[in-house]
Amino acid sequence: MENLTAAYSLLKRSSKKLYDHKFFCSIRSSNSGLNYNSIQASEPFKQAVRFHKPILSLNNFCFLRGSGIGIPDALSRVQGGGYQIHCRNVASMAASSTPMRYQSFAMINSDDISYFKKILGERGVVQEEEKLDDANTDWMRKFKGSSRLMLQPKSSHEVSQILDYCNSRCLAVVPQGGNTGLVGGSVPVFDEVIINISSMNNILSFDKASGILVCEAGCILENLNSFLENEGYVMPLDLGAKGSCQIGGNVSTNAGGLRLIRYGSLHGSVLGLEVVLANGTVLDMLGTLRKDNTGYDLKHLFIGSEGSLGIVTKVSIHTPPKLSSVNLAFIACEDYTSCQKLFSKAKRKLGEILSAFEFLDTNAMNLVLEHLDGLRDPLPSSKHKFYILIETTGSMESHDKEKLESFLLQCMESGLLNDGVVAQDVNQASSFWRIREGISEALMKAGAVYKYDLSLPLEKMYDLVEEMRERLGTEANVVAYGHLGDGNLHLNISTPQYDDNILSKIEPFVYEWTSKQRGSISAEHGLGFMKANKIHYSKSTETVQLMGAIKKLLDPNGILNPYKVLPTSVLSQSGG
Ligand SMILES: Cc1cc2nc3c(=O)[nH]c(=O)nc-3n(C[C@H](O)[C@H](O)[C@H](O)COP(=O)(O)OP(=O)(O)OC[C@H]3O[C@@H](n4cnc5c(N)ncnc54)[C@H](O)[C@@H]3O)c2cc1C
Repeated sequence: MENLTAAYSLLKRSSKKLYDHKFFCSIRSSNSGLNYNSIQASEPFKQAVRFHKPILSLNNFCFLRGSGIGIPDALSRVQGGGYQIHCRNVASMAASSTPMRYQSFAMINSDDISYFKKILGERGVVQEEEKLDDANTDWMRKFKGSSRLMLQPKSSHEVSQILDYCNSRCLAVVPQGGNTGLVGGSVPVFDEVIINISSMNNILSFDKASGILVCEAGCILENLNSFLENEGYVMPLDLGAKGSCQIGGNVSTNAGGLRLIRYGSLHGSVLGLEVVLANGTVLDMLGTLRKDNTGYDLKHLFIGSEGSLGIVTKVSIHTPPKLSSVNLAFIACEDYTSCQKLFSKAKRKLGEILSAFEFLDTNAMNLVLEHLDGLRDPLPSSKHKFYILIETTGSMESHDKEKLESFLLQCMESGLLNDGVVAQDVNQASSFWRIREGISEALMKAGAVYKYDLSLPLEKMYDLVEEMRERLGTEANVVAYGHLGDGNLHLNISTPQYDDNILSKIEPFVYEWTSKQRGSISAEHGLGFMKANKIHYSKSTETVQLMGAIKKLLDPNGILNPYKVLPTSVLSQSGG
């Protein structure tokens, strides 16, 4: 108890303003997206106050000097109806039951190219090998199409002209934003025309009183956040890919991320959309009203539809005010039950200031420390089974700090947490976040990875991880992390290379297990190409049939992002 009192009084003295939000965000943003090279560190920080049982100590911290993502390019090939699907993960492709190219789709000819050049100009029509190679390949370098054409429209009118033409010619298309999707949805499967929205990146309006932002779909998430910060607001979503992903891609995947626990899903914060349908019709649903109950709220159909129902061209979104006091604790628990209890307690005790509750297990921590340069364990005195990041965001520094400190002390007293440290400045906070946000990158560096993004009842979540470890033994490294506060587990199975035998031990087991718990086989990444044929594990036959009917109604020729989201059997009935 003496130690606790000492800890508390030291905290009181040392935890001044934990970090300034603006600086914090600028540091974090330079550490985001696909290029982690830019993080600099000047000198060791020695001010972290540790919650440590039984000794309270000061620590040195280290910094980030990430490296780019070096991925061995081991593309393999699978035949598909006269085309080649290039895929690094042959096993996973086989499990995705490789479709045949739909015979109804036309092939690009020189008249098509001339037409596109007429409406978009030379610069909007990309045929260079190198650029196409990037656009054909997904972030994980797992899925690769063979499109010979990428179009870069600059306005909704141009998108409309493109789709009208493609629909009349029966040319299949794939909408593409920042190409950071993790389920193979953003790249062609065969030769679909890539419609890249990056050139549509204007902010159209911002209402300072209401916080309502209207922008084009190609705006990069991080740029929107920087713009809003200058206006005293923030985006209601934040994710590791923020430096590259676009708001249109975020809306189309209904991206979750780190702030969902606080600001809810995009179904809540998106107020309106402009969408271009497959036949070129521009659907103006770009309202800026918080309340509007006139008829069916059709924008929700497009949020999370992964480019299969229309191309999102403009977004109206409600953004929350930027708050001045942000605190981040990195803590360790000895068992999963403590993590759950900690979350339950955090909701009750931190209430309205809780803004993130993320977890990683010891395997995830080891992987990050092994593969990412310049990262150090913030709690180096011993290894722990689980690590949790708790962020609070509020408007009254002294109040918020006191709340977090007394919460952490109570938890320590009751044995829920074993060790912990509160970031003392933006650099420390950034280095803590880097551990959590760098896991995807570390997994890529470790070799092959089987990725699963599951929603599960909180109390069952880690049972799956343990069962998976038992099934795979020493053959694979089973790594778990995710948005614990949202019941979202990122289960990743890391192996030196892809292997059919290992895959057969993972699938369909992982989907069946999730289905038994009435969980979701895609919490936030979508179904894309990877899981289109797995939808029935989470949705009833009747529901999938209705989805197919909606797809047929909006896209009768099935030209929008074919082979994705819905099972091939449903898609081939509804067009394609
Ligand atoms: C390091 C890393 C961390 C990540 N963390 C998270 C996370 O925490 N939470 C999360 O939810 N996701 C996460 N993701 C996944 C990914 O970043 C999100 O799915 C993101 O929303 C995709 O946006 P994008 O612009 O890159 O879209 P893309 O990858 O280009 O496309 C994704 C899908 O949306 C469609 N699409 C794109 N733009 C449009 C448009 N304008 N109109 C219609 N359809 C469109 C595509 O056809 C595709 O099906 C992460 C990815 C990485 C690489």
